[in-house]
Amino acid sequence: MNPDPTMKIHHYLPGSRANGPGNRLVIWVQGCTLACDGCYNPATHPSSGGMTLTVSALTQIVLQNQNEIEGVTISGGEPFQQPAALLALVKTLRQIPTLSILIFSGFELDEIQRIPGGNEILDNIDVLIHGRYQKEQRLAQDLRGSSNKSVLFLTQRYGPSNITNSPISEILISPTGQIEITGINPILW
Ligand code: SF4
Repeated sequence: MNPDPTMKIHHYLPGSRANGPGNRLVIWVQGCTLACDGCYNPATHPSSGGMTLTVSALTQIVLQNQNEIEGVTISGGEPFQQPAALLALVKTLRQIPTLSILIFSGFELDEIQRIPGGNEILDNIDVLIHGRYQKEQRLAQDLRGSSNKSVLFLTQRYGPSNITNSPISEILISPTGQIEITGINPILW
């Protein structure tokens, strides 16, 4: 097993309050073949796009920001379609006890449990939000894009109130003036 696998990343944000409890570093992985109709983030679908980072490089980015964040959110794209790198990343991040870990996935729980390393990934995170996005059941609140999606609390760290308190969207303006809108309902107009 490669001790430092690479991960295809679409984008990351060093701080966000609309992608899980508290201020979180958010990693959007690159690559998803699930093709949910109405997906808000189609630019993350091709596995050929984005950038390639080692897990140790991603960990360094987290460590540089660890005093400002409550945890790390891994979103997509589809994180579980890079299971070896995802497992290495969550096992490394789990060594930092102050940080929580939340993953958004389009897979159902039983699908994740059949992925090699899937159960071990679940053993190393706090919250999994899972299930395909169904545009007919669009919800866009409480960190669920559609109402068929489920929130699974895998440790005692969080409960339902931490999820329902998450803002549905946020507007971030970088020091260079770049505007970014994120969250479960980033369409404001
Ligand atoms: S799993 Fe997520 S990224 Fe993939 S198509 Fe569905 S909503 Fe989009």
